[in-house]
Amino acid sequence: MTPAPSKLILIVEDNDLHMKLFRDLLESHGFRTEQTDDGIKVLDLTRQCRPDLILMDIQLRDVSGLDVVQWLKNDADLKSIPVVAVTAFAMKGDEEKMRAGGFDDYLSKPVAVGSLLATIRRHLEQPLTA
Ligand code: MN
Repeated sequence: MTPAPSKLILIVEDNDLHMKLFRDLLESHGFRTEQTDDGIKVLDLTRQCRPDLILMDIQLRDVSGLDVVQWLKNDADLKSIPVVAVTAFAMKGDEEKMRAGGFDDYLSKPVAVGSLLATIRRHLEQPLTA
């Protein structure tokens, strides 16, 4: 059996420690990663590297993750890429707010390894063609 090429995850995160944790975790589970700490660059980077999924911090420096996901979802070419929100301060109603804002899924920090991997894999699963 030929192994499928490993999936590419774009990590958008402005905290160095969190970035390193996400990157090391994903790479140790066989994913490839691209990284940026700058929300403004996400659209260009996504067009360039064509990630299979985007993991996005909400609290970024110059822009909110909620704005960035809108740019992605308003782009006919990019809107099918799953985008998973990561929020630092989980509050009641956050999940609804993130989903209404265009995110495909939602995780709150501190992110449990098991739920991170399960969430990512769920969105990467593609039905086998008969
Ligand atoms: Mn942040």
